[in-house]
Amino acid sequence: MESFPANARDALRDAELGRALDNMAETIGQRRRTAVATIGPESWEALRTHARAIKDATLARLDVYLEEFVRNAEARGTKVHWARDANEACELIAGLAEAHGARTVVKSKSMTSEEIRLGDRLEGGGLRSVETDLGEWIVQIAGEVPSHIIVPAIHKTKEGIARLFHDKVGTAADADAEALTAAAREVLRDAFAEAEVGISGVNFAVAETGTFLILENEGNARLTTSLPKVHIALMGIEKVIPRFEDLGVFLQLLPRSGTGQHLTTYQTLITGPKSDPDAEGPEEVHIVLLDNGRSRFLSREVTRQSLACIRCGACLNVCPVYQSVGGHAYGSVYPGPIGAVITPQLSGIGKAQHLPFASSLCGACREVCPVRIDIPGLLLDLRSQVVEEGKEPGSGAVRVPGSTPPGPRRAERVAFAFWAFVVGGPRRFAWAGRLGRLGQRLIARGGRIGRVGGLLGRLAPPLAAWTEARDARPLARRSFREEFRRRQGR
Ligand code: SF4
Repeated sequence: MESFPANARDALRDAELGRALDNMAETIGQRRRTAVATIGPESWEALRTHARAIKDATLARLDVYLEEFVRNAEARGTKVHWARDANEACELIAGLAEAHGARTVVKSKSMTSEEIRLGDRLEGGGLRSVETDLGEWIVQIAGEVPSHIIVPAIHKTKEGIARLFHDKVGTAADADAEALTAAAREVLRDAFAEAEVGISGVNFAVAETGTFLILENEGNARLTTSLPKVHIALMGIEKVIPRFEDLGVFLQLLPRSGTGQHLTTYQTLITGPKSDPDAEGPEEVHIVLLDNGRSRFLSREVTRQSLACIRCGACLNVCPVYQSVGGHAYGSVYPGPIGAVITPQLSGIGKAQHLPFASSLCGACREVCPVRIDIPGLLLDLRSQVVEEGKEPGSGAVRVPGSTPPGPRRAERVAFAFWAFVVGGPRRFAWAGRLGRLGQRLIARGGRIGRVGGLLGRLAPPLAAWTEARDARPLARRSFREEFRRRQGR
């Protein structure tokens, strides 16, 4: 995440990635629009408002709802654990798996487990940890990390996956999608049969019943949570909602926004372990409630809204930056617009200083977000924090309070002092305009200011950076005042 600009440049040169991302933007975007249309624009907007109101009300009394959830979950036999940070959560889960003599654990897709790098901790402790979501399994055998919240292997083309399976599983180099899926199924079924522990994420947890819900399309989460004797669920503390009926709101929004489905193929509701020894299902259900920096978000209204996110991924699919560079360039488990606001808050602004700037602020993310998170507003807030902490994007150093500001800051201050002087008087402003129009003759071509290089680029580096990938409009031949006077005279 500290090298986003360099990662992004590399990603832009990757033709296969470009093809995969173009494909994603087209297919998922179209599916989402079709699915949303089935509800109708007014009802859709009303649902978004309702969902956000539920989230706001919950976050305002998060402690109360979490305690209610814990009471009701424990009353139904679920064992609840609290984890302050990633390390505590990993130790807890690894400890539970080891205590049950596990050698193999199966995992269903969970971004929270990616956030705490649970797979590494389990493998490091000698356990075999198998991802069972097809996309997650593909990135696992490729030795990579997911590049999308919902579609982990979206950065790969079908041909790339066929090559990978050929190397790792021995399928034909030109195997089609059906053959690839069948090969994956064979490996994963064995893992399900062997696993002593299943680990899942959580989409929503209902305070009034102690139930939690997992949404998925492949049936792997249902197998993960029902075949092994022990099920451990990992959940960020923001996933709790007050009432069972609230699920009706989110179930209309999440699948439509995420994959363009009316409803996911499976919805698994879990309220404690099995009560009858002869019934199917786990003998023990554990849930780990993870903070890992989330409670810090609660202190300010602007950052609190990040906790309303339901991880649908819609903001990634419409973001022009994500569509161009993909998820790995962000260097974070959470990529795209929501990643650019969550990651700096989770890992500290010093480690993710570039991410709030990885946006054109076009506002497409805010338009599609089913819970109306003002992502551009959050990005601006984080940008101001980067500047206030004295950490210039690209400077690579945090300024020690009281020390001399680094070079780019001084240049910026001089530039703004000059600007303030120029705009402080109408004559000065008019003269600056005339000088600007004269000067731009050196760089304007065909009515546009294109790439600014050479001496001028070196004298004013921001000018060169700005025009490296886009044209700028030159100043008009006459200023508004000059034009106004001219027309009046006429
Ligand atoms: S910020 Fe909104 S659009 Fe983006 S993943 Fe979260 S809920 Fe979905």
